[in-house]
Amino acid sequence: MYLATVIARQGKAYIVEDEQHEQHQCHVRSQAQDAVCGDHVLCESQHQSQDVIESIQPRVNQLTRIDNFQRTKTLAANIDHMVIVIAALPTYSNLLIDKYLACAELTDCRASLVVNKAEYLNQQSIDIDQLENIYAPLVENFIITSAHLGYGVSQLKRVLRAQTSILVGQSGVGKSSIINRLFGNTDIKVGSLSENIQQGKHTTTNAFAYPLDHESKIIDSPGVRSFTPVMADNHQAARGFKEFQKFIGECKFANCQHLNEPGCAVKRAVELGDISALRYASYQSICTENNAH
Ligand code: GDP
Ligand code: ZN
Repeated sequence: MYLATVIARQGKAYIVEDEQHEQHQCHVRSQAQDAVCGDHVLCESQHQSQDVIESIQPRVNQLTRIDNFQRTKTLAANIDHMVIVIAALPTYSNLLIDKYLACAELTDCRASLVVNKAEYLNQQSIDIDQLENIYAPLVENFIITSAHLGYGVSQLKRVLRAQTSILVGQSGVGKSSIINRLFGNTDIKVGSLSENIQQGKHTTTNAFAYPLDHESKIIDSPGVRSFTPVMADNHQAARGFKEFQKFIGECKFANCQHLNEPGCAVKRAVELGDISALRYASYQSICTENNAH
């Protein structure tokens, strides 16, 4: 038996990486069939055939989304750091960023914001000063990159060190290009075992963990491209907004949802400019969307 981390999955075929950083192709026992990228698993070596994933170790956290059939799907597990990627093109919205941030907050992982395609920063679709004012205080790292020019990539590489990060963001913002840059545009060292699985990756919503070095992994998951976080109710949505927390206890009503109640300390903070009006608007939108379900 050995301990390993799931780095890729294609249907029932898994690639795991053991503690010596060797990769193994595995089958999975039925009790472990929900294993996802980032899971720590116990595996059994086999002499004649592929190794077998026997069980999943308890998860620190997991990233889930609702699929088209209203089912909860787990995308990845044991994530330390969510890297939200936006660009002037395709245009971003504050709401989208705020949904990702709320998700990071509720998943209990760190968050960074990457503004890619630096050469488009003079476009009207992006207000970099506003972005920096709002988000720099809320994230671990606010980084401007250009995957084309290589700008900001070494800074990004430093903040990815010694942890498992997941890249999230709309299709077309440059996530794949960033990953290629991080690995020096050469062949990504995924190992020959992973190559088979990787080839199919664009046709699936399965996540793939790229080992940046022995302590650092980057998970790229096509599934997070149309990603809506799971929020049980408005109170949970409010917990996803870090800067609301210090006001929440001061609302007149203990069960205040910070929408239409009198004596709401969150709304007062918005009026006084202590909470960004755009962030509050995102909170209202998320509550409206939640309640429509
Ligand atoms: P993904 O869908 O998020 O993985 O995005 P891709 O990496 O596939 O990039 C989408 C498009 O944006 C491609 O045509 C890239 O060449 C382009 N692109 C990515 N990064 C940059 C950048 O920093 N600057 C510019 N100008 N284009 C970029
Ligand atoms: Zn309130």
